[in-house]
Amino acid sequence: MPFSTLGLRPELLKALKPQDYPAPTPIQSLAIPAVLKGADVQASAQTGSGKTAAYVLPVLELIMQQPRITPRRVHTLVLVPTRELAVQVGDTLRSLAVHLPALKITVVFGGVSINPQMMGLRGSADVIVATPGRLLDLIDKNALSLSAVQTLVLDEADKLLDLGFQDELQAILKLLPERRQNLLFSATFAPAVQSLADALLTDPVRVDVLPQVGTAPDITQRAMAVDAPQRTQLLRHLFQTHGWKRVLVFAATQHACQIIAAKLRKAGINAEPFHGQLGQGKRSQVLADFKASRLKVVIATDVAARGLDISELPVVVNFDLPRSAVDYTHRIGRTGRAGHSGLAVSFVSPDTEAHWRLIEKRQNISVPREIEAGFEPQNVAGPSPTLPHPLGSANDPTGGIKGKRPNKKDKLRMAQQPSNQ
Ligand code: AMP
Repeated sequence: MPFSTLGLRPELLKALKPQDYPAPTPIQSLAIPAVLKGADVQASAQTGSGKTAAYVLPVLELIMQQPRITPRRVHTLVLVPTRELAVQVGDTLRSLAVHLPALKITVVFGGVSINPQMMGLRGSADVIVATPGRLLDLIDKNALSLSAVQTLVLDEADKLLDLGFQDELQAILKLLPERRQNLLFSATFAPAVQSLADALLTDPVRVDVLPQVGTAPDITQRAMAVDAPQRTQLLRHLFQTHGWKRVLVFAATQHACQIIAAKLRKAGINAEPFHGQLGQGKRSQVLADFKASRLKVVIATDVAARGLDISELPVVVNFDLPRSAVDYTHRIGRTGRAGHSGLAVSFVSPDTEAHWRLIEKRQNISVPREIEAGFEPQNVAGPSPTLPHPLGSANDPTGGIKGKRPNKKDKLRMAQQPSNQ
């Protein structure tokens, strides 16, 4: 089905031409008509499947269908969890609105001076893309009002509904009109956030594009057994022997990102850290250099796991394993995007073997452990994840994987263990 059948005006179809999209992706075919009807929508589709355009196109169409009023009022609010995603969504909006010159799109996010953003909001905007904290700061300073918002979009919705953003999101929801359209988009909706999503949505159209053979992201997943202290060496070795063009490496902490990047630089590899403690100028620079291939390796915390679209990123490495299976999906989803193939390599040390097994179980995958010559682990793997320690306890060999309770089988096993275990 071509884009022209979806009910979008010629200006939007014209803006799609330079993008060279052959046809709408499944999420676009299903979500665009539902959004245009004014329905609430909860959409999940795999990473890299064209979700942004799936809400941007119909939202722009809806705004254009409204009579223009003065003074201008915010019609659509798009909330995103990270600054970089705000910039990216703003870029998509602007490129698809290029033939709708009367529209004002404003992007606001934290980590940079608030004054230019306040100036930018003079005369309001039709669409605001924002990270929650900075949006609230701007409202505190009377820089904008959300009282006329007709459409609310939560991009990476499950992240925004999660604990970390809960207070800010609730504060924003209170400022919005009760009658509005709600659009929730994400690759994952963990069961824990589904009830929050349900509370937000009225009679929603649920669009769930399950990966099908041939349409699922083409990501080869590999696991390499290695002792923890050897990981930087192994990363360096893999980078050099496989001639990887660009690699996004995930580490658990900001400190680890700094250390790994410094070690790689010392070895002559062009690497930079990327995490929430860096100034926004530095963060933007690192991302721009990485996207332009001036930088080969970026070592990031999970701040880079959500939504970032780095075209032709061939390899993602989990230097430290992600805390949850959901985070795993988002991390590896930075590669294998928009029809390209990708490779995701996870380093598994004896200490994290049990945690990896749990991720495999939750992901319903089984990845053989590979051993690179010269990097053979010296220790044997730890105990099975389902044996004696309750999930989340201090002794939990899984490291307390987030967002999942023990299943019936786990509970049964735990009940069979002696109580002092
Ligand atoms: P997103 O899931 O929105 O981050 O999009 C992932 C990538 O898919 C981006 O690079 C988009 O430019 C690209 N994309 C979006 N829609 C289409 C389409 N209909 N056909 C091909 N690529 C697309």
